[in-house]
Amino acid sequence: MDEETRLIRKGSEPTNLARVVNPPIQRGSTVLLPNAASLYDDNQITYGITGLASPAALQRALADLEGSPDVTLYPSGLAAITGAMLAVLKAGDEILVVDSAYKPTRRFCDRVLTRFGVQTTYYDPALTPDALMALATPKTRLILLEAPGSLTFEMQDVPAIAKAANDRGIITLIDNTWAAGFLFKPLAHGVTISVQALTKYVGGHSDCFMGSATTMDTVIGNQLGDAMWDIGWSVSPDDAYTMLRGLRTLATRLPRHQESGLEIARWLQDRPEVARVLHPALPGDPGHAIWKRDFTGACGLFGVMLKPCSQRAVHAFLDALQLFGLGFSWGGYESLAIPCDPQLKNRSVPVNLEGPLLRLHIGLEAVEDLKADLDQAFEKLV
Ligand SMILES: *Cc1c(COP(=O)(O)O)cnc(C)c1O
Repeated sequence: MDEETRLIRKGSEPTNLARVVNPPIQRGSTVLLPNAASLYDDNQITYGITGLASPAALQRALADLEGSPDVTLYPSGLAAITGAMLAVLKAGDEILVVDSAYKPTRRFCDRVLTRFGVQTTYYDPALTPDALMALATPKTRLILLEAPGSLTFEMQDVPAIAKAANDRGIITLIDNTWAAGFLFKPLAHGVTISVQALTKYVGGHSDCFMGSATTMDTVIGNQLGDAMWDIGWSVSPDDAYTMLRGLRTLATRLPRHQESGLEIARWLQDRPEVARVLHPALPGDPGHAIWKRDFTGACGLFGVMLKPCSQRAVHAFLDALQLFGLGFSWGGYESLAIPCDPQLKNRSVPVNLEGPLLRLHIGLEAVEDLKADLDQAFEKLV
């Protein structure tokens, strides 16, 4: 063969791969099939958009974490939420969405679902399951839950809501990102679809986007998978590898996030500048009883309501932080802080705020260093 041809073909033959600890990163759009008949065989992987080695390995590991073999991967956490909704909703449906939901979830409902004839009603996370079900109409197809809310940290009675919805043939979908699929098991509590942003604790290193949706319902599981094809989404093999690497240490990292988070939360409760700490694992928190009943632990994300003070003072405090980064997202090894008030403006149910609300993510740094950082920043809160 000519050198041109040899350059194109040589070295690509499969060799016997040595057995290493991690799955291979198999990059591929085209999948080569053994014969012509296989090209249209639905039982084979015929295109790289599904089923290459590292996404498949991640799916198997997440299936174990989530307690269901049916795991669909999405290119971001938000895509998992929107993709799951697009998979099961149709024009004319109504949905009930918790008012404390992740803000981009709300944007999708308001800006996209409305255009396709799906109407959203936002409900107060404090509603009892009965009061929530009283909002459902014969057109209600889905109830979206998120507990705790990732800014205001309200808990919901997920098992009771899931059961009541199930009895009426309504799908429940939960954003389970705070629990990372580990601290709370929604499917075991009757929820239809459990979604999480793997971007947060599963990835754990603030360097990769991905989301997942899981269900025990095989019909809905097929709808989720089909919608991925219909919409044309896939996840990259490199990103799936990165996620799987994060997953390996999830159970080791989370207890440290919990421990440091709770220590700083208790320390903040005693600070004169703080009105209230919003953390369901703290005794006295309105969601504590439910958290204790349903969850096996806490992560490192919670809210801090300051006593009334100016926005200038809040910004001076945040700008003085040295170890806490100012940035969105959470679940990585590093500590972060944001002010929340700009995100609370378009809620349907007003949030009862005594003063400015901050959100802290407590990372894996030494807890004494984090306290010292907060301590020196509080001196600027004037
Ligand atoms: C970050 C986040 C998402 C979205 O995840 P992305 O991967 O950033 O799209 C969804 N829900 C919650 C609660 C989140 O914090």
